[in-house]
Amino acid sequence: MKKHLDTFLSLNHKKADMLSVTHITDETHYYQARGGKDKDGIKCRADPCSASTTEGFYLEIISDGVNVYGSTPSLNQLPALCDRLVDQAKALKPYQLIDFKDQAKLSTGGVVSAQPQSSLSPRAIQDTLCDYSNDLMTNGIYTSEATCFQIYRESLLVNTYGATVRQEMHASALHLSATAEKDGETQTRSNGFNCLQIPLEDQFKDASQDCARIREQALELIHADNCPDGMMDLVLAPDQLYLQVHESIGHPLELDRILGDERNYAGFSFVQLQDIGTLKYGAPLLNVTFDPHMWSEIATYMFDDTGLKAQKMPIIKNGQLVRALGGRDSQYRCDVPGVACARQTSWNRAPIDRMANLNIEPGESSFDDMIASVEHGIYMETNRSWSIDDYRRKFQFGTEYGRLIQNGKLGAVVKNPNYRGITLPFWHALSHVGNADTQKISGTLWCGKGEPNQIVRVGHSVPVCVFKGIDVFGGAA
Ligand SMILES: [Zn+2]
Repeated sequence: MKKHLDTFLSLNHKKADMLSVTHITDETHYYQARGGKDKDGIKCRADPCSASTTEGFYLEIISDGVNVYGSTPSLNQLPALCDRLVDQAKALKPYQLIDFKDQAKLSTGGVVSAQPQSSLSPRAIQDTLCDYSNDLMTNGIYTSEATCFQIYRESLLVNTYGATVRQEMHASALHLSATAEKDGETQTRSNGFNCLQIPLEDQFKDASQDCARIREQALELIHADNCPDGMMDLVLAPDQLYLQVHESIGHPLELDRILGDERNYAGFSFVQLQDIGTLKYGAPLLNVTFDPHMWSEIATYMFDDTGLKAQKMPIIKNGQLVRALGGRDSQYRCDVPGVACARQTSWNRAPIDRMANLNIEPGESSFDDMIASVEHGIYMETNRSWSIDDYRRKFQFGTEYGRLIQNGKLGAVVKNPNYRGITLPFWHALSHVGNADTQKISGTLWCGKGEPNQIVRVGHSVPVCVFKGIDVFGGAA
């Protein structure tokens, strides 16, 4: 493929000041098994594997300072696409808002290998998921589910600045859940959704233990009291805190949102350009980094989709906002420091600012010390629901599993634990950051943004954290 792309560039490079072409192949396999009871006992049903593959070319040009892009599934159509983009650049010139002709030339390059691919056969995966689905069932469990994804991406970017970037990525995701039922009420407990750049067989290693825990905790929840309402200290496990980071740090700091690009769809941001470098975002304990090099995390890469070399960068340092999540084009537009975070969902979408791996650096507190620090509070695990406004200011989260904390000790399990707050006061209420032993890598496959919509993978590695005086509420009528 490299030879074909080089030939295309050599035959067409005089048409514009810069040409950059990327070939992308995406493959996704999805498996699902569901358990349930009927009059003959527990039955597990495995659905057929669903698979999708998509492959094509993304072409971007700069002509007389105008940046234009397009895509095609066919290599043969690239010259015609290039001609069309040149015509579009001419037509757009009178309406140009940003002149890209002085944009720094990107002449990085490299080859990045993927994590090892899974060697499991589709049949072995389906059989294993059926086993988990059965493991999750017991008396009182109404239904269970075991699902997984296998994801592969291969990309090759070549441009007239001399860059060649080839990257491969294998990822997997495993979801396990059990739903308990009593008197018409249901409670679901799960493992969240483990999304990692590791082979699926590595995800399976601890899954049997997880099944036992999930099943028992679903039964605990269905017999538990509702979470109480009130102001109290909140201890968040990583499988909830990751989404708090995603929604109330990641999205508001995406530079294209701050610039207003996403106002019509994904939303705006309460953060303004002049806040970058000055805003006290949270307590001094808060250290947030953009880290594209944590190898098992789902958005790990060496180069972003514009060919910019990716490096670990501080975003919030000792509570202060120091850098935004803006890629090459956004940094050029407003001259603020950013990161290599422009990514595209596939070959037929343009790279835009995405948060990639956004992590909280571990602190010094052990889990026991953090629980001991709480006189009156609650510990919550595993996201269940979320809501946050367009400016990423006011939010509300629901979790699957709560335990009350009294006088420094974990107590009764409670169901329907929720909390709400406002972004900056919430992060200023951070009182303890857990050490590396409490850290866990989480993430999502479905971060949505852009018009037309782009779904990308996003990773978050976070420790357990404690927040003082948070508005907690349950599900009682
Ligand atoms: Zn998102």
